[in-house]
Amino acid sequence: MTAEIRLFTCLTDNFGVLIHDPATKATAAIDAPEAAPIIKALEREGWTLTDILVTHHHGDHVGGVAELKQKYTCRVVAPHDKTAKIADVDLRVGQGDIVKVGSLLGRVLETPGHTLDHISYVFDDEKVVFAADTLFSIGCGRVFEGTYPMMWDSLLKLRALPDDFRLYCGHEYTASNVKFALGIEPNNADLKARAEEVTRLRAENKPTVPTLMGAEKKANVFLRADDPAVAAGVHMKGARATDVFGELRERKNKS
Ligand code: ZN
Ligand code: FE
Repeated sequence: MTAEIRLFTCLTDNFGVLIHDPATKATAAIDAPEAAPIIKALEREGWTLTDILVTHHHGDHVGGVAELKQKYTCRVVAPHDKTAKIADVDLRVGQGDIVKVGSLLGRVLETPGHTLDHISYVFDDEKVVFAADTLFSIGCGRVFEGTYPMMWDSLLKLRALPDDFRLYCGHEYTASNVKFALGIEPNNADLKARAEEVTRLRAENKPTVPTLMGAEKKANVFLRADDPAVAAGVHMKGARATDVFGELRERKNKS
């Protein structure tokens, strides 16, 4: 039996995500921006929360942890890096660790840069990756705690995932990302197709996530800082990927 996944809005532009194992009835929340919408989604499905898989310490990803843990006595899994304080943690995980959600297996990728503790969860059998604030659709997270080379490395880890893996991210930022990316690559046909799709989805009030890794690899400029077309888009032909990436990120910060 394959996993069931539900995605919904939390706070203003955060995504809440549940992954449910029909075989064991285990259900994990990927991050907990706030408790109420997560409880509502669980009750709508008749599911009980067994695990919270935290990606990083930011308040908009852990704000609901304490309340959910109290209500469900669920297990809280969080990044190994203890420099960032996350309360109520039961299990600390790092690169290569496997987290079980019932019979589902989540593999941990350390993806620092946005924060130093940031991790992503890959469910290989389900072909999904939960990349939170490292990789957004057509964008990436701001580099708050790490360096540009560190963040670029993290993006390369995610880019190594197969094209048919579905990407779930932490925020609905796709429309803004598309607008920025079109300024760098106005003639990228895959990006233009994604732009049209995003406009349609937003008009229908639907989320733009999940998306496929294969599509991101073609249209996301931040995943392609080593592509000559992207370097040319920021007038940095021949520059190192880490420098092109840094330039893209700085331009996006100011946009
Ligand atoms: Zn964050
Ligand atoms: Fe966030």
